[in-house]
Amino acid sequence: MNPILNEYKTVFATVPFEEIKNEHFLPALEEGIRLGKENIEKIKSNTEEATFENTILALENSSEILDKTAEVFFNLLSAETNDELQEIAKEFSPKLTAYGNDVGLDADLFIKIKAVWDKKDSLNLDAEDLKLLEKNYKSFVRNGALLNEEGKEKLRKIDEELSTLGLKFGDNNLKETNKFIMVLDSEDDLKGLPAGEVEAAAMLAKEKGHEGKWAVTLDYPSLIPFMTYAENRELRKRLYMANGTKSCKGDELDNKEVIKRMAELRHQRAKLLGYESHAHFTLEERMAANPKTVTDFLDDFLSKAKDQAKKEIEDLQKYAVENGGPSDLQNWDYAFWAEKLKKDKFSIDDEMLKPYFKLENVIDGVFQVANKLYGLNFKKNDEMQKYHKDVMTYEVTDESGRHIAAFYADFFPRAGKRNGAWMTAYRGQSNVDGVEKRPHISIVCNFTKPTETKPSLLTFNEVTTLFHEFGHALHGMLADTKYESLSGTNVFWDFVELPSQILENWAYEKECLDLFAKHYETGEVIPSELIQKIKDSATFHEGRATLRQISFCLLDMAWHSGDTTAISNPESFEKEAMKPASLLPDVDGTMMSTSFGHIFAGGYSSGYYSYKWAEVLDADAFEHFKENGIFNREIATKFKDNILSKGGTEHPMELYKKFRGAEPTPDALLRRGGLI
Ligand SMILES: [Zn+2]
Repeated sequence: MNPILNEYKTVFATVPFEEIKNEHFLPALEEGIRLGKENIEKIKSNTEEATFENTILALENSSEILDKTAEVFFNLLSAETNDELQEIAKEFSPKLTAYGNDVGLDADLFIKIKAVWDKKDSLNLDAEDLKLLEKNYKSFVRNGALLNEEGKEKLRKIDEELSTLGLKFGDNNLKETNKFIMVLDSEDDLKGLPAGEVEAAAMLAKEKGHEGKWAVTLDYPSLIPFMTYAENRELRKRLYMANGTKSCKGDELDNKEVIKRMAELRHQRAKLLGYESHAHFTLEERMAANPKTVTDFLDDFLSKAKDQAKKEIEDLQKYAVENGGPSDLQNWDYAFWAEKLKKDKFSIDDEMLKPYFKLENVIDGVFQVANKLYGLNFKKNDEMQKYHKDVMTYEVTDESGRHIAAFYADFFPRAGKRNGAWMTAYRGQSNVDGVEKRPHISIVCNFTKPTETKPSLLTFNEVTTLFHEFGHALHGMLADTKYESLSGTNVFWDFVELPSQILENWAYEKECLDLFAKHYETGEVIPSELIQKIKDSATFHEGRATLRQISFCLLDMAWHSGDTTAISNPESFEKEAMKPASLLPDVDGTMMSTSFGHIFAGGYSSGYYSYKWAEVLDADAFEHFKENGIFNREIATKFKDNILSKGGTEHPMELYKKFRGAEPTPDALLRRGGLI
């Protein structure tokens, strides 16, 4: 019998990893799809009048087996994959996508949903029910369900072309990145780079068939250290030009026409669906709500950060000249001189901090924070099955001992785990008709492993990463809603980073660090001067960093706020859009848009602002804690009751106002960054 299809008889009904084998996934998927289709068919063929229960709730519950299967499968594909699983994914993913499309475009199903929507005011639904109804209705409408046949056909053509162009964009970029290699004959050319980076460059050369030499490519792990440390200005320029001219050289890998066409199609699509622009369409489902909020937001930041940013560049220019550098700082000089200045100013590095951040201590630290704020207790539970022996498993309870969640933590890199850090769920939270399901939450990271002689000691960046992911985990664990699809982290995109980013703030506070940041050999608590240095260096060149981010946001909004058909020269269009936020001289022939994967290959179109937006939220919200004490239970309870537990059951602006008593303002972030 396929263990995925059975009810899990394990502790807390957690995933029985030890029983699930690779060969179980595809059959479980097939069965999940079959059951899903059967359930949808039941909704459609029901001869009774469409109601919330027989339509919306039935749809919410239509794919239980499928969801369960997909959750285990994709989590393992990220955290513990192997060749066989990768092969299975080639069949699994398209089948699942096809099922999703079939349901999402099912016209007969939409008739039922619309029938419920049209009489929603007479149904006595509570706020959560209404939200679920709205979410389902809107997702159909935004896919064109209200269009006539001709409109639907147009939309289908647009989507097809967009998807082809998106792939072409990414493909051209990848080819450009892979095509370039800078082979260096002499170790002198790498002067300034840390020994480890020189070694990496030698290994890269060997890998690429240039043994005995050194190589630098446009992949970030190779590009960034070279731009940051290499003393040879000419080589930095060469690398900068190679990177800045990706897919805009007028050859077969050029993306200028691709992006222009994509922006046009996105505009047409938005118009067809009744929106003014692609930005209007996208932002309707965001906390920011409309393009005006976003552009006002960006203008505000620009005006407040620009003077400071200019001053930072002036000071850097002076510093460069004083230290034998050029008198005309260019884009390929910035990272190099800024790094030098930062080192001079703060004399702080990872090695000084790491002894205070033994992994076990940091884990204990985040658990203590969760306990002080929300009364949560984490108890190791080795009855829970693991997908790898390194995974740690916990039961989470509240102050009264009530079971809150099951929690997995998977910290070390290994073959089969992808890079980065993330939070995910093996089971979402729900509470329908008195049947409560508590969530099963996991965080996955790639931290430095312990050795035989040394425990795992984290860099400060890894410490904030752990706080960040743990913040997402709290959002998942403390969820308390009726419906899984509105629960936990199922919120608008520009709101989802609030719980994670706010928690990072605790990692900079003495009162919090005193709890756990103790030297792994001597037990000494981290000195206050070091904490101050961490804080100061974290906001180094905040003005310039802000302007750089704003310039990307402006570019994104420029491409997506209106009809771009008339643009004759994408390069000058781009330079014009970014101009208000640029600091160093423009370089002819270079472009950002043609390799701006976030907005042309990823899902960030009209959404790049959300990075800054999330920072505003976390700074503004944290200030509320700071004013009242970072472990103030009353504030913490307000944050839990109005934000962490509420998921997407209300508009995020409403939730935020209930917590904070007002809409967020950028002041706290500007203060934190020393900009006001
Ligand atoms: Zn995050």
